[in-house]
Amino acid sequence: IIENLSDLKKLAVLGHGNGGTVYKVHHQRSSSIYALKVLRFNNQNNNNAAAPMMISHQAAAREAEILKRVDSQFIVKCHAVFHTISGGGELCFVMEHMEGGSLYEALRAHEKLSEDVISRVAQCVLKGLQYLHGMKIVHGDIKPSNLLINAKGEIKIADFGVSRIVGSGNVGNASCEGCMGTCAYMSPERVDPERWDGDDNADGFAGDVWSVGVVVLECLVGHYPLIGMGEKPDWAALIWGICFGERLEIPESASPEFRSFVWRCLEKDWRKRGSVEELLQHPFVNNRCFTTSCASATSNHGLLDFAFHA
Ligand code: ATP
Ligand code: MG
Repeated sequence: IIENLSDLKKLAVLGHGNGGTVYKVHHQRSSSIYALKVLRFNNQNNNNAAAPMMISHQAAAREAEILKRVDSQFIVKCHAVFHTISGGGELCFVMEHMEGGSLYEALRAHEKLSEDVISRVAQCVLKGLQYLHGMKIVHGDIKPSNLLINAKGEIKIADFGVSRIVGSGNVGNASCEGCMGTCAYMSPERVDPERWDGDDNADGFAGDVWSVGVVVLECLVGHYPLIGMGEKPDWAALIWGICFGERLEIPESASPEFRSFVWRCLEKDWRKRGSVEELLQHPFVNNRCFTTSCASATSNHGLLDFAFHA
């Protein structure tokens, strides 16, 4: 449907990330709104610290490759990819616009979410991961700012900037290039592969489950949960908290199902951690009768409405 990049008119900036900028754009011909993610390339001999908004060709190509493959209601849809030569080169993804913004923004606006809403968020993210893992794709960067909400209140996974296809030969560049935000959601075996992985090479699927656990707990407590609130969030505290932090302070008020779900996700030994399949069957996401409605995961209509109206 979208034939030319020039048919898209930039209306506003929706967000900035490691790799580039995301704009809200208007497609004149269909008079529709889309989100346009623009990644600027880093030419090999120009990778100085003064250009933090640039990524390698390899990383951009991997993101494009994955976006072309995936098609699920739990994943933000990519309608077209354009390659331009302006500047040092750009890769542009035309995506469905998620009007409600990210879960990060929703948490900032509302601080905490109810268990019913969190349960639905967890179910949607796990269904998205079930789809991705089935395609042998490790997302690698599940965190609130990569979970987007649309006008219907549906939540979807976005941002395949550090994702990888298992067994594709490309080394799953897990480098988080100085990005504390991203490392905060990484599993022990990813932040400290030697200690936690041994010679048994994890495929990385369990790392996505860990991240779901951190996100779910953060939704309940209203702040990043693995280091104390007042603590200065430096690298050492963060890595220590992830690898050795004692069993989580889950609020007294949390239900036993919530507790058990989080424990299965935040099991430090990835071999013992719950799988996506197991967690989809967990009572916290499965047998829960929602106070709002008992609708299926495909119509979580209204549950995240607050985000849209925030
Ligand atoms: P990071 O490295 O920080 O994860 P990134 O450069 O990979 O970021 P994205 O995560 O894809 O970029 O997008 C950055 C932000 O832009 C998101 O957190 C979100 O707020 C906004 N955004 C991205 N895609 C969309 C979309 N389809 N609709 C609405 N907003 C979006
Ligand atoms: Mg992101």
